[in-house]
Amino acid sequence: MSSKHFETDAIRNQLERSQFQEHSTPLYLTSSFVFDDAEEMRAAFTEENQRNIYSRFSNPNTTEFIEKVVQMEGAEDGYAFATGMAAVFSTFAALLNSGDHIVSARSVFGSTHTLFTKYFPKWNIETSYFDINKPEEIESLIQPSTKILYAESPTNPGVDIIDLELLGEIAKKHNLLLIIDNCFATPYIQQPIKFGADLVIHSATKLMDGQGRVLGGVVVGKSDLVREIYLFSRNTGPALSPFNAWVLSKSLETLAVRVEKHCENALKLAKFLENHAKVSKVKYPFLKSHPQFEIAKKQMKLGGNIIAIEVKGGLEAGKNFLDAIKMCSLSANLGDTRTIVTHPASTTHSKLSMKEQLAAGITPGLVRISVGLEHISDIIEDIKQALIN
Ligand SMILES: *Cc1c(COP(=O)(O)O)cnc(C)c1O
Repeated sequence: MSSKHFETDAIRNQLERSQFQEHSTPLYLTSSFVFDDAEEMRAAFTEENQRNIYSRFSNPNTTEFIEKVVQMEGAEDGYAFATGMAAVFSTFAALLNSGDHIVSARSVFGSTHTLFTKYFPKWNIETSYFDINKPEEIESLIQPSTKILYAESPTNPGVDIIDLELLGEIAKKHNLLLIIDNCFATPYIQQPIKFGADLVIHSATKLMDGQGRVLGGVVVGKSDLVREIYLFSRNTGPALSPFNAWVLSKSLETLAVRVEKHCENALKLAKFLENHAKVSKVKYPFLKSHPQFEIAKKQMKLGGNIIAIEVKGGLEAGKNFLDAIKMCSLSANLGDTRTIVTHPASTTHSKLSMKEQLAAGITPGLVRISVGLEHISDIIEDIKQALIN
């Protein structure tokens, strides 16, 4: 069923009911499925018959979750993974050969960056990086062996925005696959396929679950590409567990209302911080002061739930701010109901040199806030008292 309304599809698209006529989708916690006879089994294995065989290949709960994301992103097909990183790795590994080349934004998720710099070179796959604020550099990096153009928008932790329409045009002109990690936006806010993306990746761990419970990942896009990724994954085993798929599918029913509220709270907090004397810079896509405000407005429905701020006083001030926080959580996750603050320079990016940190947009006083669903007055109150400290 498709009503073409995001909220309705997210809630009403579900598996067929079993003989028990359950209202909520049941959990199919089973590793395999049974056959009536040898002929039925043969037909399933030769794919003449589309049905579940083994939960590493497919499972009803996983399929329901994938189908919802496929519809939300306007994609053709998809496959779900145990984690966002399994989705990222499997996508590249399935589609690339030794000797292929990637052009990627420099500011990508930390583990994705590690894949590019540490692991892919082992298989003779090299990556060139462009500055997210200088998309005019991209074409000069493209080589005859370039196969994939890769980016995230908004970025982590700098909350920069890249013009997806421009990326789509470049990818088309040079016959590259455009792959977008859409984790920070969610399909409720932004649908990269509309701008020419061939594949869209999500860490479902973040806003899709949205309640800090399970890990998951998903790739959706063109069916021929998804088919390659499916065959690779069916044999290498990064599949999402049926239990996590069941949790995630249920979570998608509330994605729209949650993301609306996350973004409403984030915009209010961003406006408060913009006028605070202890904060030298606030970056939020839907603030007019954001360098790519116009692009954000063009491609995003709302500004997202992540705010980057620069606390005056550098590294020490950033750490002191975190120590003074009372209610918000100090945690490595984001996109949770709970507001989370992190200080990249002393934690996630502390192993990088100062120069590398700056190249990745990590300034010493940079604090990332993943705005949650607590009452906005309480969020502002906590941040405010921590800034005075
Ligand atoms: C968290 C994250 C990932 C990795 O997802 P996991 O579920 O933690 O493996 C990838 N990309 C982005 C943008 C993320 O925020």
